[in-house]
Amino acid sequence: MIRVVAFDAGNTLLHSEPPPPVIYARHMSRLGRPVDPAEAAGVFADVWSAMQLEHRPGTDRYHAFPGGERGWWLEFVRRVVRELDHDAPIEPLFEALYRAFTDPAIWAVDPDVRPALGALRDAGYRLAVISNWDTRLPRLLEDVGLAPWFETITVSAVEGVEKPSPAIFRTTAERMGVEPSEMLHVGDSPREDYHGARAAGLEAVLLDRRGIFSGNGFRTVPSLDAVPAVLPGGGGQPRTEV
Ligand SMILES: [Mg+2]
Repeated sequence: MIRVVAFDAGNTLLHSEPPPPVIYARHMSRLGRPVDPAEAAGVFADVWSAMQLEHRPGTDRYHAFPGGERGWWLEFVRRVVRELDHDAPIEPLFEALYRAFTDPAIWAVDPDVRPALGALRDAGYRLAVISNWDTRLPRLLEDVGLAPWFETITVSAVEGVEKPSPAIFRTTAERMGVEPSEMLHVGDSPREDYHGARAAGLEAVLLDRRGIFSGNGFRTVPSLDAVPAVLPGGGGQPRTEV
């Protein structure tokens, strides 16, 4: 029996508006030669993928990095600048970007979030967040008004362990006082959220807002509005797994 529903944060509960590469392009253009957002987007994705692979899988990227999370983001900015062969001064650019992403004004809460959380809470489910994020997440969730919905907010940078490691899911179950099998995890990443949660013994649904994963064997929902319906007492029957 499911007692707790846990949510991923990025692109599940909230997303930056405009997307991160557009914000990078904007600040780089202000401090140096003009950068096209599309050009920034390609490099942003490449540097992100490369830096994902540089810490031991499951461990938290920020703990392991010299200078901690600010050091990690400084290195990220440095590499984006280098790949774009851009002339912006690194430190001022880093400071501007770090401030930009700390500002709750750039974070948009997806419109299906509050109705879904309300329906789940009304149906008696307890709610949690499990996120790969830096230590700014709890404050950010406060600032956008989502924090009061959740009993626990588990953040990789605080725990020292990232999804898909089972440890971050089991720590959250322990904190909520339930067995992993009594939790359902909802997120948009097949690897981190769906497979990670299942490997830890939780149930999982993949949030697939763009409809790109259907037919791939995942149990998916097209929006968070559909989550209550996959739970007993939430207004519908569980979907059969493909
Ligand atoms: Mg996500």
